[in-house]
Order: sequence, then C-alpha cells, then structure tokens
Amino acid sequence: NEPLEVVDPEIAEVLKNELNRQRSTLEMIASENFVPRAVLESQGSVLTNKYAEGYPGRRYYGGCEFVDVAEDLARDRAKSLFGAKYANVQPHSGASANAAVLSAIAEPGDTILGLELSHGGHLTHGMKLNFSGKLYNVVSYGVDPETFLVDMDVVRQKALETKPKVIIAGWSAYPRTLDFAAFRAIADEVGATLWVDMAHFAGLVAAGIHPSPVPHAHVTSSTVHKTIGGPRSGFILTNDLEIYKKLNSNVFPGQQGGPLMHVIAAKATAFKLAATDEFKERQLRTVSGAKLLADALTTDASRAAGVDVLTGGTDVHLVLADLRNSPLDGQQAEDALHAVGITVNRNAVPFDPRPPMVTSGLRIGTPALATRGFGDAEFTEVADIVAQTLQQSGDVAALSARVKALADAFPLYPGLEEW
Ligand code: PLP
Repeated sequence: NEPLEVVDPEIAEVLKNELNRQRSTLEMIASENFVPRAVLESQGSVLTNKYAEGYPGRRYYGGCEFVDVAEDLARDRAKSLFGAKYANVQPHSGASANAAVLSAIAEPGDTILGLELSHGGHLTHGMKLNFSGKLYNVVSYGVDPETFLVDMDVVRQKALETKPKVIIAGWSAYPRTLDFAAFRAIADEVGATLWVDMAHFAGLVAAGIHPSPVPHAHVTSSTVHKTIGGPRSGFILTNDLEIYKKLNSNVFPGQQGGPLMHVIAAKATAFKLAATDEFKERQLRTVSGAKLLADALTTDASRAAGVDVLTGGTDVHLVLADLRNSPLDGQQAEDALHAVGITVNRNAVPFDPRPPMVTSGLRIGTPALATRGFGDAEFTEVADIVAQTLQQSGDVAALSARVKALADAFPLYPGLEEW
C-alpha cells in the first residue's frame, strides 16, 4: 500500500508533468474539459475493483448492492437531464456507445448515411478503417461548398437515392446546429432509423441552449467528457422500448463485459452537476467565448492575413478556423499556438486542398476554459492572442506572457497535491 510515487516514480512523474501542463497552458481542444474534484474521486475509488456484468438488479456477480445504486442514479439522472424514457450508461467510451447503437439498429451490410468524415463527421459514422466502415455500406452527405452548412435538401436527396437503414446526424467538427426535426422527417419518409450522436454538444443540450435531438431521434448517443465535462465515457438514450431492449443486449454482452463502475458513479455525479444553474451559466460562457473568438478571426485584419472562420461564426462551443488562404497550414498554426501555450488541434476543412496530416484548418473550443472560469473579458483576451498568433502579427514572448497571466489568474485544481 505504498503511494504511487514510491511504487512507480516514472508514472508519478507523468501525472505530475501532465497536471503542470494542464495548469500552465490554455486548453482549447474542443473535445476536452476539466472534470471536477468529485469526479476524480469516484474515478480513483474502490469501485474500480467491482465486477458487475449485467444491469442493476440482474447482475452475474454477487456483491453489487452498492454499485447498483450508482448505476440507477446515473440512469435516472441521464433520463431526467435529457427528457428521455430510457438510458444505458454502461458504454466505456463514445465509440463503444456508437458500436452498440449500430449493432442494435442495423445488420452488417445495411446502408448507413452520415456526415462525411472530412466534412466534420466522426470515425464511427462510417470511416473505412473503423468497424462502422467495415461492417456497413456507407454513404455520406457533405456540407455545401459555398456555405459550409448541411443542406437538408441534399440530405433528403441522398436518402431517397440510397434508401439507408440508418441516418446519422451529429458531428465532431461543425459550428452550427442541426435541424433534428427535418432529419426525422427524412428518416420517416425513407423508412430509416434516425440516430443522433450528440457527443460534442450534449452539454449545451443539457443546459437548454441548443436544440435537443432526444424528442426526434429514435436513438441518441453521447460522450460524457466533452461539453458535459464528466468522466471519459459514453451513454445512450431512447424513448422506444424495443430499441432500448436491443441497446441493452448490444452494450452487454454485445460489445462489453464488465462495466466500469467507478466511471458510472462519476457519470452520475456529472449528470447531477449538469442539472444545476452553475452548469447552465458555464455553457452560456462557453458559447459566448466561442462567438468572441469567431469575431476576432473574421475581422478585416484577420481576413487580410488569410485567416477566416467557416460559416462566418458559430452557434456552439467551437470555431473552425479556415486557413486555406493563410501562409500557415493547419500543422504550422497548431505549432504556433502551442509555442505561445495554447493547445488546439488541426482539422481538415471540407474540400481541403492540403493533405489530411497537414490540413488547412484548426478546431478551437472553449469548454475547458469556461470550466476554468473564463468569461467574456478573458475570452476577448484569448481571442486576441489567437488572432495575433495566426496572423503572425505578435511577438511570441509577449503573447506567451499574456497566456501565462491568464493561466495564473485561473488556477486549475488548486491544492490537488494535498487532496
Ligand atoms: N462521437 C463523436 C461525434 C465524437 O466527436 C467522438 C469523439 O471525438 C466520439 C463519438 C467518440 O468518443 P470516444 O473518443 O470516447 O470514443
């Protein structure tokens, strides 16, 4: 029972260095967040020891009386937060939730229609090396080449032509909201099942500041660790009892063995917190910060330097910087921001002229900084630092000092070493 520092100093060093990195830089990867202390406590708890194959009240192992309470709380809170009749909170990750969804609503070989990966879709929506691309016949809709928006007439046309078994709405990189009612109308017209993957924007939905897919979709999947800011994991919602039964058997035993009960307990806490006024206020700061960033990257000076924003702005927690006319490609822009202490990821823009490992875009998100406490004043400062860096108009040392000042003003996990 020695502490980690004694048992494995090399790994203890990794934890220390990563904490320091998170504290001293500005995290703007759109899919990341900082979990609260309460979530860290569950995830680092004795619940990690427990096998609990099955579902509450119907386990294949003894001794589940306490973990059952945690899973029931997680399910009830997920249902209440999103207004869904049924929830499965066992998926280990977003990708495993999606594998369970597809195996519940389609057979191998069936046609699935989702957003093209290079236009902002996700690997699990039909990428050829992913299970979804290997098992199913994948057809895709893209965004409009002029507006970069999903055009529902195009989605309908594709659906009429290809008669998919499943239509997928949801994205990893798209700065606007989708019309879920229109997706459902198309699904009904062609006899498809509508699956919405709200992994990215689930926190905004929980806060009531983004349209909810839950009343429209046959099934909705999500992660817990992006805008929701909970533990790294997934969950699935539906209002349809038949689909729910299939989902349950396709999560366990279909995709997984024993659920991660320490993570499920942490999910319950994350859903509890997501129902609070503080959470809503944080999501409002998140979206407001993204809009301020979009404003700073669409000024005349920004456009003159070849930096712009896809769709001209954002309605969500991220901005897609368009660097097609910039001397910096996506990789160089990611490196330039890293050099001043801001972490983002490069991202292909639709119809990208540059190769996928280089790209002509950046995906820049505000959830982690909003969790850290940033409001409009700080986001205005961050937006200016990002804009100057991408326009190559600022001094790197001065920009780094401004990043450090912001990081110092909003300490992350203060006192964590003593917890
Ligand atoms: N679905 C969408 C839309 C995502 O953006 C992601 C993660 O990036 C996932 C699913 C997969 O989540 P995970 O990384 O937990 O497997």
